[in-house]
Amino acid sequence: MNAAAFAAWIRHTAELVSADAGRLTRLDAAIGDGDHGHNLDRGFRAAAEALPDGVPPGKVLMAAGRSIVSRTGGASGPLYGTALRRAGKAVGDAGDVGAAGLGAALRAALDGVQELGKAAEGDKTMVDALAPAVAAYEAALADGSGLADCVRAAADAAAKGADDTVLMQARKGRASYLGPRSVGHMDPGAASTALVLRGLADVAGEG
Ligand SMILES: [Mg+2]
Repeated sequence: MNAAAFAAWIRHTAELVSADAGRLTRLDAAIGDGDHGHNLDRGFRAAAEALPDGVPPGKVLMAAGRSIVSRTGGASGPLYGTALRRAGKAVGDAGDVGAAGLGAALRAALDGVQELGKAAEGDKTMVDALAPAVAAYEAALADGSGLADCVRAAADAAAKGADDTVLMQARKGRASYLGPRSVGHMDPGAASTALVLRGLADVAGEG
């Protein structure tokens, strides 16, 4: 993937988040404070509008991360911002990111999210979408799949991971205050993470 493809990912994800902002906010209203869709819509929109030209993919990701940190409220701004900046750092100065490089970037994003949020799998957070996505990506890569197929595997695993949060009881974040009453609702951060990876799968075959 070149810089234009990463920029296309951010723009496309901004569209997906915008189209789904109502659902994300309803999910957050059920077990949180009801602002996730609105917050993330504002953050990705800002990121899409401030994409730099003429820089390598790593710088595109870092710029998007900075925009999201500065414009997304709640806990998700720093988490998504960290994910994108760590991914950008992992990619370094490469002009074109191959399947192995993108896998390393996704792994770095997950590590950053877990360091910041201190969440493990099963806590009912975005980690429950991102961790299986990274694992699925790495498994596809080890099987010899190309970048687009690895990303598709990651996006499918993220969607399933988000679905699986419905039955979990939250152990992190605002939803954890609800205890057993958090069961029966999809985690909004896992839902949006699945959306972001779907966005990546949509553009991954195009450059
Ligand atoms: Mg919220």
